[in-house]
Amino acid sequence: MSPPPASEFEFELLVCRWAEHEWPPAGERAEDRAVLVARQLGTKRRRWDTIVIEADREALRRRANFGAERLDGDLLHVVRSAPEEWAWYRDALPEPGYSWRYVREAIHEADDRGILDVRRDGNRIEIRRKWPYPDWIDRIVAIENKPDLDASAARTLRPQLERDVALGLADEAWVATTATGERIEPALLEDIPVEAGVLAVDPESKSAAVAWHPRTLDADAPGTRIGERAESDSEFVQSAATFEYAEPEQKRETRLRIAERAYERGWRSFVDTMRPDCRHFQLRDADGQLLPRCGAKECTPTSAECSGSCGEYEPEPPAWRQRGWPIEGGPGNRLRKLLAARRRRRRPGQ
Ligand code: SF4
Repeated sequence: MSPPPASEFEFELLVCRWAEHEWPPAGERAEDRAVLVARQLGTKRRRWDTIVIEADREALRRRANFGAERLDGDLLHVVRSAPEEWAWYRDALPEPGYSWRYVREAIHEADDRGILDVRRDGNRIEIRRKWPYPDWIDRIVAIENKPDLDASAARTLRPQLERDVALGLADEAWVATTATGERIEPALLEDIPVEAGVLAVDPESKSAAVAWHPRTLDADAPGTRIGERAESDSEFVQSAATFEYAEPEQKRETRLRIAERAYERGWRSFVDTMRPDCRHFQLRDADGQLLPRCGAKECTPTSAECSGSCGEYEPEPPAWRQRGWPIEGGPGNRLRKLLAARRRRRRPGQ
C-alpha cells in the first residue's frame, strides 16, 4: 500500500500532473486532442479541486491568437460576434442584455489587447473581427480530490456530487482518492453517487487507475440547481431543498467561462498566491514535478500558509536580486517565470 501524500495540496498537484500527462484514464489520447488542467476553479456556488478540459488541438491553437489571458463574458460577447467586415458595433453585436457602455469598454479592451480591429467613423465605433473565435472545448471533467476517502469524507462529499450530477455542468464528475491496493477499493463502499467515477491514485508510482467508471452527464440538457437542504438523516426532518433550472444556453456560457479561466491559469499558478519572493521559498523537483517547498518549515506549504501573514516570511536579500534587477528580479521572479513557461508549453500555439 502506498503512503498517503503529506497533504491534500500535494495530492491535488499530483492528480493535476497525472491528468496532464495521462488523461483520459481509460484509453489513449487521440493525436488531435489536447488536455488542459486547472485547479480550484468553478462557479460562484461551486469550486472544483481539479478541472480537466478536453480540447480540439487545432481549435486550441487558434484560441492562442486571442492571447494567454482569459476572455471574460463581455470580451467573449464582442469577439464571438464581431463581423468579418467593418460595421457599427451596435448593428453588428446582439443585444447584450446590459448597458452598451460595458460593450464599448470591452471593445476598447479588445483593441488594447490586439484581438479586435476597431476604428472610428465620426462618432461611431466600428469593429471587425481578426479571427473567428474557435469552438475549442470538447468536454469538461470535474475531479474532487480526497486522498483519505473515509465515511466522514464521503458524507461531506455526497451532497456536493449530487449537485454536480443534477446540474450537469461538467461532462463527468470524479473523485480521486489514494489507492490501497485492495481487491475492492474501500472508496467504492462509501456512500457516493454512482454517477461519479472513482480514480485510485498511487502516489508512489504517480499513476492512477479507474476504480469506478463515471456516467456521462448531459451537459447540453437543462440542469437542476439544488439549493439549501436540511442536513439530517431523520425521517421527521422535512427537506428544505430548493431547486431551480439552468437552461442549456446558460450552462454553455458558464462552461465557456470556466474553460477560459482554466486556459489562463493552468494548475501551476499556485505560485501566484504564494510568496516566491521569500528567501525560504524553493521549488522542489519531485520526479519532474515542481512542488513548492519551504526551507524554514521544511514542508510543502499551502497558499494559506505561504502568505503575507506567515510568521517566518523573510524577503529575498537585495543581493540576490542584483543581476538583472529590477527587470529580471530575484529567484522568486525566476521561479514564477519557470512555472509560467511550463504552463505555456501545454497550450498549443503559444
Ligand atoms: S517562510 Fe513562510 S512565506 Fe516563506 S516560504 Fe516558508 S511558508 Fe512561505
